[in-house]
Amino acid sequence: MKSTLLSRRDLEFLLYEWLRVDELTKRDRFSEHSRETFDAVLELCEQLATRYFAPHNKKSDAAEPTFDGEKVSVIDEVKEALDAFGQADLMGMAMDAEFGGAQLPMTVAEAGFAWFSAANVSTTGYLMLTIANINLLTKFGTPEQIEAFVRPMLAGRFSGTMALSETQAGSSLADILTRAEPQDDGTYRLFGAKMWISGAEHELTENIVNLVLAKIPGGPPGTKGISLFIVPKYLVAPDGSIGERNDIALAGLNHKMGQRGITNTVLNFGEGKYQPGGAPGAVGYLVGEPHRGLAHMFHMMNEARLGVGMGAVSLGYTGYLKSLEYARERPQGRPVTAKDPSAPQIPIIGHADVRRMLLAQKAYVEGGMALLLYCAKLVDLANSAESDDERDAATLLLDILTPVGKSWPSQWCLEANSLAIQVHGGYGYTREYDVEQHYRDNRLNPIHEGTHGIQSLDLLGRKVTQRGGASLAALGTAIGQTVAHATAAGGETAELAAELDATWQRLVEVTTGMFASGDIEAAMANSVVFLEAFGHLVVAWIWLEQLVAVNGRSGDFYDGKRQAARYFFRYELPRTAPQLDLLARLDRTTLDMRDEWF
Ligand SMILES: Cc1cc2nc3c(=O)[nH]c(=O)nc-3n(C[C@H](O)[C@H](O)[C@H](O)COP(=O)(O)OP(=O)(O)OC[C@H]3O[C@@H](n4cnc5c(N)ncnc54)[C@H](O)[C@@H]3O)c2cc1C
Repeated sequence: MKSTLLSRRDLEFLLYEWLRVDELTKRDRFSEHSRETFDAVLELCEQLATRYFAPHNKKSDAAEPTFDGEKVSVIDEVKEALDAFGQADLMGMAMDAEFGGAQLPMTVAEAGFAWFSAANVSTTGYLMLTIANINLLTKFGTPEQIEAFVRPMLAGRFSGTMALSETQAGSSLADILTRAEPQDDGTYRLFGAKMWISGAEHELTENIVNLVLAKIPGGPPGTKGISLFIVPKYLVAPDGSIGERNDIALAGLNHKMGQRGITNTVLNFGEGKYQPGGAPGAVGYLVGEPHRGLAHMFHMMNEARLGVGMGAVSLGYTGYLKSLEYARERPQGRPVTAKDPSAPQIPIIGHADVRRMLLAQKAYVEGGMALLLYCAKLVDLANSAESDDERDAATLLLDILTPVGKSWPSQWCLEANSLAIQVHGGYGYTREYDVEQHYRDNRLNPIHEGTHGIQSLDLLGRKVTQRGGASLAALGTAIGQTVAHATAAGGETAELAAELDATWQRLVEVTTGMFASGDIEAAMANSVVFLEAFGHLVVAWIWLEQLVAVNGRSGDFYDGKRQAARYFFRYELPRTAPQLDLLARLDRTTLDMRDEWF
């Protein structure tokens, strides 16, 4: 039976017919692997996600974690799923072999991981945070820290969190107040409160490795004074055994709209509820250099941002497949041209407007999946590069695509979930069907890991201009290559290539004009409009790439790809024209609006 989580056929197309990930095995880093090992991992992911993660998705939404003042309880199925994932040795799918990982390409690992997010994004959240935590510590941690914390996380015994946000400091991390007091033995004691921390406090694992941002007193102000610490729930003795409880107290759980299966916590550090070594203060171990914490954390955040994008795609994807199945089965109404009211009703997929909603979802979710796998391949190219130039080229492109990879699916695959509800009609608005939960779960994605607005500031304020516009130029080169291939293919593919090329030229012209004006306030005021036009252009490029890969082949699958590409160019890419016009005018409507006029 075909899965309604993801499409295996689409993944095969993207991985092998388009991105040709099997060719990565020619590189040293991946030489131990083959298409067979890739397929085996993908198959295993699909099976485990279907068997252990999907069945409790609704239950963990309805029975969210509870706190009795001492302990947090989470339904048993979450632990069973996490244990199954750990036992399958999947935690280290893409990690370096020297740390016990399987060193698979990130592209394959991401595709594998998508099965879990589609099945149950909350339970998968515990894994995502742990994996990002491991990746950060293997890069910046000491050998002792790796031994004490990374190895048990890899084995699934410990789990990880990232603790940046505070009540008064969400987008503006420069304003965090948590402080880390240095101790004579080289450790630190942390005091302060963190807000919104996912995956903290539970009994699912033996220990929880919190990666916490805090300021060492006397350091520089703002983000340059932020350092990064490991602050475990329990201290770990030199022999690896679990020691005293650290001074981290759960002030309470947040009650969320979606993603309810994963705990979301308010944590107090150093309030004295627990007294490790006989004194209050949460014991912390500095990671990397002092005051470089945000830069270190960004290593995790960039990965987490792409992870958020993939989570959004996965939720959009499963909503699409479920609404497609529903539309094939639900009889309602008759064709517009049917005259006989006693003729049998047709399944709603027969109505053009329902096909429009399905086609839009297909274009968003397959476009989003392709974008995220493309980004993952850039990570692989950078990690396995044979020269600095090659690494630099992949990194430049990845840099500018990261805010898009996070934001575009968070917006448009959420829209896909909304359309999936619409296809279900009234039934989609009830909890008997899955799609309302997918929408609620997906609604988080434009908020966390840097809001939509913050991503737009990152794209326009940093990425577009970084290194004298080198990232933007790298994207221009990549788009130019696709346009050349598509033009050579001729026919409709060449026509779409010309449309993409014209939109790209216009975007470059508008961007140059915005910066040349010197009116940075007006330019940045419409950064979200820029992000959205830029995102649609990038995804149109990704659709053209897919169309080139389809390359005239026949059959339903390829015809479906062609039609979705056509849809994207006819219905979606034209949205960018008025957006680019508004940007070119340096429109001041929002700036000129006054508080008292609201
Ligand atoms: C369910 C959930 C899970 C989370 N998990 C974690 C976690 O595990 N670890 C963690 O550290 N954090 C976590 N967060 C926190 C999350 O990253 C923050 O909520 C997010 O960064 C936004 O911060 P805020 O909520 O304080 O909103 P604010 O920063 O107050 O933003 C409110 C609005 O103002 C806008 N805004 C803010 N500053 C600017 C600006 N300079 N320019 C333009 N617009 C601006 C924002 O875009 C937004 O629309 C989680 C949040 C939620 C809801």
